[in-house]
Amino acid sequence: MTQTVPRRPRWRSLALLALCLAPLLWPLQHLAERYYRNELIEQNRQTLDLYVANLLGTLHRYETLPQILGDLPALRAVLAKPLEIETLTNANRLLQDIAAQTGAEVMYLMDVKGNTLAASNWNKKDSFVSRNFTFRPYFIDAIAGRLGRFFGLGTTSGKRGYFFAAAVRDGEKVIGALVVKVDLDHTETLWGKTPEQLLVTDHNGVVILTSRPEWRFRATRPLTDAERQAIIAIQPYPTRDPQPLNLNHDAWLTQTQSISETGWHVSILAPRTLIDRPVRTVVAVGGATLLVLMLLLGLMMQRRRHYLDRIAFEARTRQELEMRVIERTSDLEGLNRRLKSEVLEREHAQQELVRAQDELVQAGKLSALGTMSASISHELNQPLAAIRSYAENAEILLDHQRTEDARGNLKLIGELTGRMASIIAHLRAFARRDRHAPESVALQPALEDALALLSQRRRAMAVELVRDMPDATLWVQAGETRLRQVLGNLLANALDALTEKATPRTLWLSVERVGDGVNLYIRDNGPGFTSEALNRAREPFFTTKTRTQGLGLGLAICDTLMRALGGELILANHPKGGALLTLHLLAATPGANLQPPEDPTA
Ligand code: ADP
Repeated sequence: MTQTVPRRPRWRSLALLALCLAPLLWPLQHLAERYYRNELIEQNRQTLDLYVANLLGTLHRYETLPQILGDLPALRAVLAKPLEIETLTNANRLLQDIAAQTGAEVMYLMDVKGNTLAASNWNKKDSFVSRNFTFRPYFIDAIAGRLGRFFGLGTTSGKRGYFFAAAVRDGEKVIGALVVKVDLDHTETLWGKTPEQLLVTDHNGVVILTSRPEWRFRATRPLTDAERQAIIAIQPYPTRDPQPLNLNHDAWLTQTQSISETGWHVSILAPRTLIDRPVRTVVAVGGATLLVLMLLLGLMMQRRRHYLDRIAFEARTRQELEMRVIERTSDLEGLNRRLKSEVLEREHAQQELVRAQDELVQAGKLSALGTMSASISHELNQPLAAIRSYAENAEILLDHQRTEDARGNLKLIGELTGRMASIIAHLRAFARRDRHAPESVALQPALEDALALLSQRRRAMAVELVRDMPDATLWVQAGETRLRQVLGNLLANALDALTEKATPRTLWLSVERVGDGVNLYIRDNGPGFTSEALNRAREPFFTTKTRTQGLGLGLAICDTLMRALGGELILANHPKGGALLTLHLLAATPGANLQPPEDPTA
């Protein structure tokens, strides 16, 4: 009996648990975001520091150069004699050399009116010589005795540069200005192709350096009117009206450093996707881990449930088995008790039966003995008749002087009296339950003796005798006297039956071995058993003969004797008419020929 528990609620509760645990992913996301943001910020801060240091380094390299150059006599000479070709040529060559050595883009010398007298690019097509830059703020600052600083696009080159300018003095008097332009384009190209973007804005909030060309010269904040006018006046950008740069601040993580001396702000813009991607990965991994944990938990729960189910099932089975064993045991005990009592009853009944049988046997035997004593005359009639006949014969023989034959008759008479004594003794023994152990008896001689006793009567009745016997002596388990008694009875009955019939009268005798014994068949062609006689012939006193002739004891005694010998007497009629008696005897080992005969007096 397997108890089927619905599994679905298990999984439903697991799903619910997963739903409850899902918010755990939010702090995970938060933590991951913070971690990756800090990581990125730290990394970008370093990049920013490096870039700012690099930019400042570049500017600082040239900051003091105008002042130093202003002290050079060759340049001062130009301001003193601006029209002297040789001086100009010297100054131009000198500026060209120094510019080449320092890496400055251009160096040039202006008089107080803003005219360029000498320049490092004097021999180039876009030479500054004889050009006027009074509109540039650095010139104004330098003439005013301050260090001029300015970011701007070269008016001829179009390249972005930073201008440093300083006054050239003759004593206290300002006689000119010396300007050094530093190329800034290259500082932009230094920025690699990283996802992070560079953004350098000037004091107007306009982008001057950036890694994104489309952002260049765009305003990161709205410009004031004054700023717009200044831009128009000094033209630092290629455009007079910088367009606003509309940055989506949510998409970028911005870090800014300001450079106070230039009024610039250097920003590094990292796309938020740089954080989002790893964070998403972390959350996905976290989610997957949670899912796997959930699955494992579910699996473990299921296995545990199976295990518990199995244990419960086994316990139930064991209990059932024990119950069944107890039931069976009690059944068996009940059965055992019943059997014991039945056995006792049986034993009791058996004892009763044995006692009853004993009593019956004894009673039967006593009654048979009573009957037999009444029929002793019948049993002894035949030898008596024979003795009488032998005696009469002997008398006649003696009359005829045949003493030897008479002696033979007397001897036979002696033997017969011995046999009669034996019969009497046997009847007595039968009544007393005396039993002789069966002995080996030769069948044919016993039969011959029985026939000899009846031979006279048989001949008188003209009964033909048909014998079918083996030559070899057959040995049977019997008592010598008892066997002769039985045979004599059966043969006498046959002759009795044949008297009721006219000639031809025949008596058949045959013997055959069967299995563990020997069958002797005695058949006559008399009237045969009536159907009542067939059923009752073994009963004592059953006779169909007239009272004077028969006592009805012959077959009763024969049957009892045969049983006592372990044999059997079978009564039947032959299919061709007449009675057929079968005497079944147990076979015996060949013994000494007729010796010793059964002790008749025992
Ligand atoms: P009895 O000879 O004194 O009648 P038995 O016990 O010897 O007593 O026989 C019983 C009966 O069995 C006989 O009366 C007879 O009817 C029957 N019987 C015995 N032997 C034969 C036989 N050979 N043929 C026909 N009937 C027989």
